[in-house]
Amino acid sequence: MSRNSGQALQGLRETLRGPVVTAEDPGYDEARSIYNAMIDRRPAAIAGCADVADVRTVLSFAQDNGLDLAVRGGGHSGPGLCLIDGGLTLDLTPMRWVHVDPQARTARVGGGSELGDLDHAAHAFGLATPAGIVSTTGVGGLTLGGGHGHLTRRYGLTIDNLLSADVVLADGTFVTASESEHPDLFWALRGGGGNFGVVTSFTFRLHPVATVGAALTVWPVERTREVLQWYREFLPAAPEDLSGFFALLTVPPGPPFPEPIHGRKVCGVVWCYTGDLEGEGLEKVLAVVDDPGPPLFHFAGPMPYPALQSMFDGLMPKGLQWYWRGDFFDAIPDEAIAVHEKYGRDIPTGLSTMHLYPVDGATRRSGADDTAWAYRNALWSGVIAGIDPEPANADPLRRWCVEYWTDLHPHSMGGAYINFLGEHENAGRVQGTYRDHYDRLAAVKTTYDPHNFFRANQNIPPGVS
Ligand code: FAD
Repeated sequence: MSRNSGQALQGLRETLRGPVVTAEDPGYDEARSIYNAMIDRRPAAIAGCADVADVRTVLSFAQDNGLDLAVRGGGHSGPGLCLIDGGLTLDLTPMRWVHVDPQARTARVGGGSELGDLDHAAHAFGLATPAGIVSTTGVGGLTLGGGHGHLTRRYGLTIDNLLSADVVLADGTFVTASESEHPDLFWALRGGGGNFGVVTSFTFRLHPVATVGAALTVWPVERTREVLQWYREFLPAAPEDLSGFFALLTVPPGPPFPEPIHGRKVCGVVWCYTGDLEGEGLEKVLAVVDDPGPPLFHFAGPMPYPALQSMFDGLMPKGLQWYWRGDFFDAIPDEAIAVHEKYGRDIPTGLSTMHLYPVDGATRRSGADDTAWAYRNALWSGVIAGIDPEPANADPLRRWCVEYWTDLHPHSMGGAYINFLGEHENAGRVQGTYRDHYDRLAAVKTTYDPHNFFRANQNIPPGVS
């Protein structure tokens, strides 16, 4: 950085309540580290924002000093969208707070919060809202992309439960977006990613979810055909209070799995049941798991919802190498099953995986054009993720993921969940995500960010208004 910008950064430090970290500071490497260790970028500074005032200051600082800006929520995006070499990261992590109104059944959530913050605060009142399956994921990026998880079949996407958002726009204006205020912006925020401004707080509707039925069933990978042929019929026809995402994985070397199956390549389903847990409830619902053939392992029992939400945290700590790609699916034809079986047998590392998350059920209660999310008719949101602690394995992870995705893509609906687009995917993929909502999003972008100041995201450049 030049001496002038060094002086300017000193001024920023004195103004902000949050910390400002540059390459000269001892905490720089920690401050620029994100969830995916495959991303190694060196921003000019990371500016922590403690409140809306800080956010406005950092935005105008970036504009006055000609710095490219990236916004960090939970830092979980696969392509590392919150870091730009030589740019300024507006870091929302100091804004981790949640206020629950148990009477109104709503939660107001700071823009830098993690899913676990929301689950923890809401659970104290026996409440929850749909979000992702790893508790360290940011509420910000997940929500702005749409958000799906264990509660989606029952209560919809995260955005279907978003009541309003407080946003600082590119020109520093502070607005609240909801169905009644700036409805065009509110429409775009629900799926359009970080394109439109910095969301300083989200207000969600909550539902009575406290203890859920949690279960995990795995079969040998060699049975992938039978399991997927059964699963593709069973789950879409099941009541909305049952969710189960399909996975290809390697059995982790520890409890609850019995030692003889540690390290086995398997296919499986992770279940969440929000129906009646009294009596035989869960056992009865899952009596069907023998239908595709006897499982290698089956565990089922009641579990506090936040425990299910953090069940995979230990397996997937920050700092692993990640490379992922996704697509939406409205069917799992036999040809696609053959692809899954081939790459499932060939999983390159112990943590690499493929998930098919159900996005049907309550998601269908919103109209196709009610939000920016353009795949209300999808049955599954799929992701293929190459994962490993060892940086030397980065190339094999990428190769497996891209080859798997290339073979599977012809059996998809053509576009992917915006939050599952990987590094080095192109603008055409972003358009494929939004289908006929793309032009409307570009028009909203023109209204709220005409100079494309917010472009460190799955970018939608301004279009016609
Ligand atoms: P960041 O990298 O901080 O941000 C991602 C993008 O969002 C950036 O463009 C950033 O600028 C923007 N952004 C973030 N916060 C704000 C804000 N407050 N205002 C404006 N822009 C903002 N997704 C699911 O839907 N369901 C899942 O179950 C799920 N599981 C996952 C599990 C793991 C282990 C990981 C790594 C990801 C998972 N995801 C899941 C995908 C996740 O939704 C995306 O990675 C998402 O981008 C994470 O958001 P973040 O805030 O943590 O990321």
